[in-house]
Amino acid sequence: MDISRRGALGLAGAAAASTQASAITIRPMLPDPTGFAPAPGVAHLKYNENPLGPPPSAIQAMADLARSSWYYADDAEERLKAMIGKRLGVPGAQVVLGHGSSEVITSAALAWGKRGTILLPALQFDEPLLYPMAQGLNYRRVAMAPDLGIDLGALARAAAAPDVAMIYLCNPNNPTGMMLKPADLVAFARSLPPCVTLLVDEAYMELADDPTAATMLPLVASGANVIVTRTFSKLFGMAGLRIGYAVASPANAAELKRHRLTISLNAPGLAAAIAAWDDGAFQAQSRAQIGAARRLLQTAVAKAGTVALSSQTNFLFVKVADANRFAAAMAQRGILVRGAWTPAWPEWSRVSTGRLTDVERYAKALPELVRA
Ligand code: PLP
Repeated sequence: MDISRRGALGLAGAAAASTQASAITIRPMLPDPTGFAPAPGVAHLKYNENPLGPPPSAIQAMADLARSSWYYADDAEERLKAMIGKRLGVPGAQVVLGHGSSEVITSAALAWGKRGTILLPALQFDEPLLYPMAQGLNYRRVAMAPDLGIDLGALARAAAAPDVAMIYLCNPNNPTGMMLKPADLVAFARSLPPCVTLLVDEAYMELADDPTAATMLPLVASGANVIVTRTFSKLFGMAGLRIGYAVASPANAAELKRHRLTISLNAPGLAAAIAAWDDGAFQAQSRAQIGAARRLLQTAVAKAGTVALSSQTNFLFVKVADANRFAAAMAQRGILVRGAWTPAWPEWSRVSTGRLTDVERYAKALPELVRA
């Protein structure tokens, strides 16, 4: 099993991880007068959010924008698409923005679902498919590899069926946090029948060890039948602002746009995304802080005598006695984590990196509750 033992450092490791964490400038959390944040005392380690964001540059941009938010935001949409395209090496016209990356993934499922079946790994984030599923989407889940990784061989065999129109997979995967080997995924993409579109959800890619080596964006740029989705919800800490995007061939981009909701983008989210996109200092700090919190979690997992899958994201998939009982016991202490993803994996619980103080509370409670 692809188990991370990087945290198996005992007390010395915990001290080292704390030192690394404290070497990073932690921006103090601002008081929340809106009541939108979790109640005081609640450690929200449940939804893979990033407490560092939005960056100050984005907060300023939203404040500046407030007075002109009576306009529809078409011009801002074009600006952001051009900025994203410039950095990622495609024309802005090949970038499709959405109300979070969820909207573009939902659009893809609606569009390609008309053509045939959508394949996805059995243990994978699937929320953007729930609406298409309610509309009658044909989909098939494909079993995982024994190490809980995505089984590309099984997906390739399933993709040979004549009804398959699209494969949706997350890399890194949620909830496992695991990454596919880039060369394996490229070979898989190239092996697919030309009529099968591969949608690679890279929501967490910017948090990975080497995003440049692992992303499938070069496949899109080379004209392959591949769509990559990304989001401002993770690295940029803007989950509540709902901006995400797809990068696709001109034909696939046109198809996605046809299936989007009408006028779904919001001006504050666009203003924040435009400001944050070139804020390299914030992005570096965000990666560093998430890495520090992840190391704290890995150390805590090892100290508690259990294991977690190797993660390149802002969450860990941790083995416990019973994930639902574990989540309930953590919740009693004001620490919110995921219970069992589905009944098929009752022993695995996902915890997000969150605020370092909240991670420390989780680390403290883990040894007692891991076998609860
Ligand atoms: N893709 C994956 C793998 C996710 O885990 C999430 C959210 O957690 C999303 C997409 C949705 O992100 P967004 O906020 O961009 O809709």
